[in-house]
Amino acid sequence: MTTTEHDDEATPNGIPRLGLGTWQNTDPDECAESVRTALETGYRHIDTAQAYDNEEHVGEGIARSDVDREDVFLATKIWLSNLSGDDVLSTAEESLDRLGVDYVDLLYVHWPAREYDPEDTLPAFDELRERGLVRNVGVSNFEPEHLDEAREILDSPIVANQVECHPLLPQDELVAYGRDHDVDLVAYSPLARGAVFDVPEIREVAEKHDASPAQVSLAWLFQRDGVAAIPKATGGDHIRDNYGALDVELDDEDVAKIDGIDERNREVDPDFAPWS
Ligand code: NAP
Repeated sequence: MTTTEHDDEATPNGIPRLGLGTWQNTDPDECAESVRTALETGYRHIDTAQAYDNEEHVGEGIARSDVDREDVFLATKIWLSNLSGDDVLSTAEESLDRLGVDYVDLLYVHWPAREYDPEDTLPAFDELRERGLVRNVGVSNFEPEHLDEAREILDSPIVANQVECHPLLPQDELVAYGRDHDVDLVAYSPLARGAVFDVPEIREVAEKHDASPAQVSLAWLFQRDGVAAIPKATGGDHIRDNYGALDVELDDEDVAKIDGIDERNREVDPDFAPWS
């Protein structure tokens, strides 16, 4: 596949469908170069979190790139020990300082766990949005019942629920919930951290399109309404390969083949997960 310059499609809530994940990309220079390379390749969405210990390096990558800050959709997340209302307010400002920006495009509740108390946590997200430090509010690892509760409390719309999603964990219920309630799904670990690469159905579709298995997994996510994906890639080869997924068009037969995969796999399953 060749990569071409094109406008990145966005989800219904305006989230660029392809983002760069940065979990475990903690070497300062390597992380900054990943972000710079992604932006200069055409990505317009970067995903980080307080817990990734790399917000400073992500900010450095944005600063190094030739893409203007206002053209980047930048997302970070409040860690579960910082989810009291007061800590949301103070640590969000610390995140902005580390990132070297005046606002983030999306601020997520990282997990509905530990210090998460909807009545205390969520009004602080509304306040950050009212103050202009945060353009949009999101949540991560929420199940439908947490989404129902949060939607009742928040004044802001929930633009996205970021959850693990890939051909081995299709998350049909959350995708349907999102379509019904205007909550886009941002797919994390969209390559199942590599587990999709050896799935025979994915390899067959990849061969047919002269594409990589990574591109096919991402293209399968992009053809679903209201879904974005944030593959983590460190070097230029993976970053460009994943960008090429935007040019892979799956037909109905390909989609049916991938939808029909029986294997199931959840990569991220900590003891504080709400589904545990
Ligand atoms: P992933 O994106 O499914 O997989 C990343 C792995 O795939 C890395 O080892 C990467 O290698 C490799 N890779 C990437 N592109 C490739 C390609 N084209 N060909 C071959 N290998 C390729 O897993 P993830 O990092 O768990 O998830 C992505 C992002 O989602 C994270 O970085 C983070 O931003 C977010 N996330 C959020 C949560 C949450 O709780 N909200 C949880 C997990 C992840 P290299 O690094 O060497 O390129």
